[in-house]
Amino acid sequence: MVQYPQSPLMGRMMSQPLLISSLIHHADRYYPTTEIVSRRVEGDIHRYTYRDCHRRSRQLANALKKLGVVMGDRIATLAWNGYRHLEAYYGVSGSGAVLHTINPRLHPEQVAYIANHAEDQYLMFDMTFLPVIEAVAAHCKTIKGFIALCDRDRMPADSKIANLMCYEELIAAESDQYEWPLFDENSASSLCYTSGTTGNPKGALYSHRSTLLHSYASALPDALNVSARDVVLPVVPMFHVNAWGLPYSVMLTGAKIVFPGPALDGKSLYELFEQEKVTFSAGVPTVWLGLLTYVGQNKLTFSSFKRTVIGGSACPPAMMKTLRHDYGVEVVHAWGMTEMSPLGTSCTLLAKHENLPEEQKQAKLEKQGRAIFGVDMKIVDDDGKELPWDGKTYGNLLVKGPWVVDGYFKSEGGDVLENGWFPTGDVAVIDDEGYLQITDRSKDVIKSGGEWIGTIDLENIAVAHPAVLQAACIGVAHPKWDERPLLVVVKKPGADVSKEELIQFYEGKIAKWWTPDDVVFAEALPLGATGKILKNKIRETYRDYKLPTA
Ligand code: ADP
Repeated sequence: MVQYPQSPLMGRMMSQPLLISSLIHHADRYYPTTEIVSRRVEGDIHRYTYRDCHRRSRQLANALKKLGVVMGDRIATLAWNGYRHLEAYYGVSGSGAVLHTINPRLHPEQVAYIANHAEDQYLMFDMTFLPVIEAVAAHCKTIKGFIALCDRDRMPADSKIANLMCYEELIAAESDQYEWPLFDENSASSLCYTSGTTGNPKGALYSHRSTLLHSYASALPDALNVSARDVVLPVVPMFHVNAWGLPYSVMLTGAKIVFPGPALDGKSLYELFEQEKVTFSAGVPTVWLGLLTYVGQNKLTFSSFKRTVIGGSACPPAMMKTLRHDYGVEVVHAWGMTEMSPLGTSCTLLAKHENLPEEQKQAKLEKQGRAIFGVDMKIVDDDGKELPWDGKTYGNLLVKGPWVVDGYFKSEGGDVLENGWFPTGDVAVIDDEGYLQITDRSKDVIKSGGEWIGTIDLENIAVAHPAVLQAACIGVAHPKWDERPLLVVVKKPGADVSKEELIQFYEGKIAKWWTPDDVVFAEALPLGATGKILKNKIRETYRDYKLPTA
């Protein structure tokens, strides 16, 4: 960590470390009756308040102390979005230990790899994941015990897992008297591994300071815009970059929070949105597909849902338009990554855009947006030279800021910074008003005749076709051009469209030479553990595909 010089004249402000425990202390003191509502793994709805959550988080902190957990120890979770997971967020980090949220959708081998790499001491899990625990327990060398997030009567009768404990029993035995310790704000607070689409997963190790600063910034009106008048339903999982920081920003602002648990299908989500009067939600584009299909098929409307942040992968303009025009839901397109806690940019208009024609406003809103204060960004060429912000020159995107990693946990991957900047692996353009537009991940860009073709634009056009549910564009080997685009399409149920019609659909929308050379239809697209389309899998499937132009 870089040390900076001290001025001979230091300010006279209280020295108070920025700690995660201060968030729950604040929520308890100022919003004691604000609700936390969870759909449990058991299927029922559980509700309690910030004060209750604070009390149980302190009981958990006492329980961890009794188990011998000390500052810096990693405590893993394998859990859905729910109140017990929230208690772990505060009980673990607040007491100085490190919350390690593991993505349960990963292959068990990867779960074991991550748990061993992190040297987790205990693992807390929802009963849904008992089979994963049974598969990995013997391989997790450092784990001293497994804590099932359930009541006693839900515990498995004949489990072979060594040292299996019941969460409710564990905390019931503890006092709710606990003083959150004060310590250096740069101490590690939580750990999240990138999904490792290439190579082994690498850990982003957040600090209390980075988490608090990210919470302040993410709650700003042009970012997530969370307030005490909101009812927030994070669809984005608490095991994916801390649900984009929402479990922290709701405590900071006093918003009510609603957790969907494992029920992420359209019907369950819709019912929860309506019952709890949800105003704000956040998730990756693929999760909205299910909800929108359900709402569309049943001709339903939203009575309270006003705003959603969509990010994690490019939000197709067609989805944005449906939410905005058909359901009156404002969509804020955001960009970030695990290494950035995750928020980097969010897209809202400036005052001067107010009177722009509708299509120009829409074009602006489809971009990934402006940097949130705290994050700085630039685009550079392959020699590291900064490129202009003219809306058309594209380059490698670099970022820096107090919630951006300066390296990975245990220095995995070595020195990652380039002159103090973190290379995101994304290719982007920035316009003269500072709006970022991601054209692709550098590994997904199609290199055709020495020029680059960004696949996001090609996919956005395809999903704007009424018969298309999902689309992915990949580069396929071509004898003359190196690579040419192949479009892989999943049709909407009951809809039909031909190859030729789809290729025709690109006419006038894009430079002619960007048009996909061919289209294949698939039943489904492979999704990764965070709900994103796995381009590398698709590339593998079509590695030997013979394009008609080849
Ligand atoms: P991974 O999927 O590698 O584990 P993340 O979930 O952190 O990592 O994903 C970060 C990446 O997701 C970004 O680098 C970028 O490529 C992509 N991404 C995130 N948000 C957007 C967006 N709004 N538009 C396009 N791409 C996005």
